[in-house]
Amino acid sequence: EPQRETHSFQAEINQLLNLVINSLYSHKEIFLRELVSNASDALDKLRFRAITEPELLGDTPALEVRLIPDAEKGTLTIEDTGVGMTHDELVKNLGTIAHSGSREFLESLAQRGQQDVNLIGQFGVGFYSAYLVADRVEVVSRAAGKDSAAFRWTSEAKGTFTVEPAERASRGTAITLHLKPDQKEFLDEWRLRSLITQYSDYVGHPILLQVKKPSEVIDASTGEKGTTTSFETVNKASALWQRPKSELTDEQYQEFYKHLTHDFEPPLAWTHFKTDGHQQFTGLIFLPKNKPFDLDAAGKRRGVRLFVKRVFIMDDCEELLPPWLRFVRGVVDSDDLPLNVSRELLQDSAVVRSIRKHVVKKTLDLMEKLSKDKPEDYLTLWKSFGAILKEGLTSETEHREKLGALVRYESSRDEGLTSLADYVSRMKEGQQAIYYVFGESRKALEGSPHLEALRKRGYEVLYLTDAVDEWAAQGLREFSGKPLVSALQADLKLQETDEEKREKEQRSEGLKALTERMKEVLKDAIREVRVSDRLTDSPVCLVLPEGGSPAFLERLLREHGR
Ligand code: ADP
Ligand code: MG
Repeated sequence: EPQRETHSFQAEINQLLNLVINSLYSHKEIFLRELVSNASDALDKLRFRAITEPELLGDTPALEVRLIPDAEKGTLTIEDTGVGMTHDELVKNLGTIAHSGSREFLESLAQRGQQDVNLIGQFGVGFYSAYLVADRVEVVSRAAGKDSAAFRWTSEAKGTFTVEPAERASRGTAITLHLKPDQKEFLDEWRLRSLITQYSDYVGHPILLQVKKPSEVIDASTGEKGTTTSFETVNKASALWQRPKSELTDEQYQEFYKHLTHDFEPPLAWTHFKTDGHQQFTGLIFLPKNKPFDLDAAGKRRGVRLFVKRVFIMDDCEELLPPWLRFVRGVVDSDDLPLNVSRELLQDSAVVRSIRKHVVKKTLDLMEKLSKDKPEDYLTLWKSFGAILKEGLTSETEHREKLGALVRYESSRDEGLTSLADYVSRMKEGQQAIYYVFGESRKALEGSPHLEALRKRGYEVLYLTDAVDEWAAQGLREFSGKPLVSALQADLKLQETDEEKREKEQRSEGLKALTERMKEVLKDAIREVRVSDRLTDSPVCLVLPEGGSPAFLERLLREHGR
């Protein structure tokens, strides 16, 4: 007698389900995007595994998604011929494993409300969106490979789910939604068609919709005209990035981006390019608007999605982007890599290095273009990702010039962020350098005695307040021929007149007794006491010897236990 097991949902998933099933969110149709995206992932995984294990395709070579509305039963089924799930995978993936994103999702719903239901897929819990429209969900799945058995997962989202043996002729997964009484619109052929066109047109596998048409044949048993059912492909089912640019609209690019990232807002900019010649590959690179919640989460991979000859290979291919571009999203489809490419091969491949170089260049060009054409949008990008981008100045010198043109800082001018080019254009006559101070916040820096001498000369000073800035500014070194100089360095070489020089020497002499006495008292706490001309109002300030690191930085490093 087949055994039915009952399992409890993991605690946070249970909370999440309660919120989803009672949600008043008005765009419940997003469930379809999430379930079709899971089906498409399952098909991608199968195709990838079949490269080395072709027998997995078995007697069902077709890779497709089928949508089956059933008006009589009030159900909508989303079925795929993908990898499927074993008994244990059903239990883990759909209920007992703690997803890192479920807590964050709950927090974001608590803080920002129902609008964030849309983000469910970004948090890695998209499957549960089924309960926006259904009060009971059944998943029948059979893993690819011979000797696999099918199982049925069922739940009404009331704390538990059941798993039991089931019948399914071949590999794949069928998810049947028992629609809530007020959600029957999702049985309608035209509603489903338009949703697929809107959300899932760019899914690279065919999405077939079961349609019923009145038949010309009289049904013998009823004496009336019957209906015929057939499947119609409702999406384009071709890789969007392989289509010519001229055929693609902004909306299509934006929807593809949302499909790729589960972001609910469109990207700020994108670039779509094809290279030929030495390396053949197609790239589609997007600049997102918002920082995803898990961008810097431990264990998270970052990068673009890698395809080889249209076959999906992996998500988040880190080898294709340097860490300081880890916020960039997109697709790279190479014609030169082998289909059975491994991580080891990726890490040690000249092809990959050459693709990466090209992708970095395209991405930096895209940012530069955005900063010129749409400065407001560029500032949005900078606010989300500037601190990450600046890491590029600490690690590599190759892109120094381009990154120098992209950085933005606050300054003593007090009019928001400025570029270095704009700073340079405002430099005073005789000003030799671009001056900056580094500290915790703009507020802490504004009153800094280190600025007095610069201010007296009317020099603008950049305020660097990100932890990475000190290293980044040192990495940048100069911009447009002007050195970047820290106002904290002792040896500020400001221009002085002969008279100023004489005056300074006289003052030094006059104060000798005092400085000697200070040295005696402070002993090892300091290296030197010097009479300075950099202060106008404050009597004294601490400065750094050549090569010393700022007090703030030292404290920061201490706090991080380094
Ligand atoms: P995500 O897709 O971000 O991993 P989901 O909540 O959408 O999160 O899905 C959870 C997991 O359930 C997936 O990672 C996958 O392992 C499994 N899964 C969901 N739908 C399918 C399907 N149609 N075929 C195979 N596995 C699936
Ligand atoms: Mg998903």
